[in-house]
Amino acid sequence: MPMKRHLYPSNWDTIATIIKYMADWHCTKCGRPCRRPGQMWDVFCWELRHEGSKWCQETDKPGRFVLTVAHLDQNPGNNARENLKALCPTCHNRHDAKARAINRSHTRVVKLEDAGQFRIKGV
Ligand SMILES: [Zn+2]
Repeated sequence: MPMKRHLYPSNWDTIATIIKYMADWHCTKCGRPCRRPGQMWDVFCWELRHEGSKWCQETDKPGRFVLTVAHLDQNPGNNARENLKALCPTCHNRHDAKARAINRSHTRVVKLEDAGQFRIKGV
């Protein structure tokens, strides 16, 4: 889900960095390693190859090695530790898929209502 920055606390970058640090810069779902802040891409790739990591085959896609922080309840105002999880973009998208589907459905209903379509209660 696109990040709506105004819904996040002013110290979100610090919170997210702590969560990522606690995850040792790996996705907590699939284990994908991610680049640390300031780490050069060439150095990161060299480390993957040096470790014989299964992920080194994907080094032509740098966007897959970015770590994000997900709100498990989809509420960016709930920054309790147990509600935050470090995820790679793929796992984050999978996590958010259900919420996106619900939002799409809600948006479709709102657009229909805005166009004059009324709901029939009980149907
Ligand atoms: Zn992942």
